[in-house]
Amino acid sequence: MVIYNLLCKKKHTFEGWFPSFEDFQKQAEKKLISCPSCGTTKVEKVPHACAVHVKKEQPAVPAKKQPQTPAPAPQPSAAEFKEMLIRVHHYVKENYEDVGSRFAEEAKQIHKGEAEERPIHGTATLKDAKELADEGVPFIPLPKPELDS
Ligand SMILES: [Zn+2]
Repeated sequence: MVIYNLLCKKKHTFEGWFPSFEDFQKQAEKKLISCPSCGTTKVEKVPHACAVHVKKEQPAVPAKKQPQTPAPAPQPSAAEFKEMLIRVHHYVKENYEDVGSRFAEEAKQIHKGEAEERPIHGTATLKDAKELADEGVPFIPLPKPELDS
């Protein structure tokens, strides 16, 4: 079994399943393949499409006796999460100007075009954050990693 991505003359793309490439060619020659969107038989194979071979024995639905639940995405452990946070903070420190407790003020000025547009970081109180949000100033609150050192 091969699956081809097909393209009609009106640029609709759709999948076509064929027993083999020869069958696809035969059906295309006889104009047996039509676009499901507009019905045209002027259909061609998308050049970069790749054929996917599907095993005939493969059931459409996995049997319930053997649940084939995909492995859940690994949740980062507390240590990994902390490491990630530290990395983010490190990046921010390297690339963003530290404006400390003036963050909210600076962010507002940049937003209004009163200060030079630049990446900044600093500390904001909950009240500051609410004000920034109210004024539509874009900012990302970052949890502070608790550093052992
Ligand atoms: Zn079409």
